[in-house]
Amino acid sequence: MRRVPFIIGILMILAGIYSFWWYFQILMSGDFVEQLYLWIVTLVIAILLISFGPGVMAWAYASSFQASYRQIAKQKQWQVIQIPLECSECGNEITLRSLEWIGDDEARCPFCSKDLEIRSSRSYA
Ligand SMILES: [Zn+2]
Repeated sequence: MRRVPFIIGILMILAGIYSFWWYFQILMSGDFVEQLYLWIVTLVIAILLISFGPGVMAWAYASSFQASYRQIAKQKQWQVIQIPLECSECGNEITLRSLEWIGDDEARCPFCSKDLEIRSSRSYA
């Protein structure tokens, strides 16, 4: 999570709310005709800040997510291994930890010692 843009986003929203408060203060005081420019400026600033604040926060969130995703995608040396959920012979549940490995792509059922079908991306490479 990128903290700084996130905090900037929150500050933008808070400043926007504050600007809106000013806008209503001028409106309530009744002299917005004399302070017309200030009145318009506070409204424009409020609208801009409140509409861009969440955008900045969303960007901060999305970019940090993208950065972590890119980091995962950088890892190129994966190998995919598929093991059956259960033994076709005795029906016991097979887990990666319980397998009895007899080779890189060869394993036996820990219950009945039947050779299980193991698929590895390495064997297709
Ligand atoms: Zn078995």
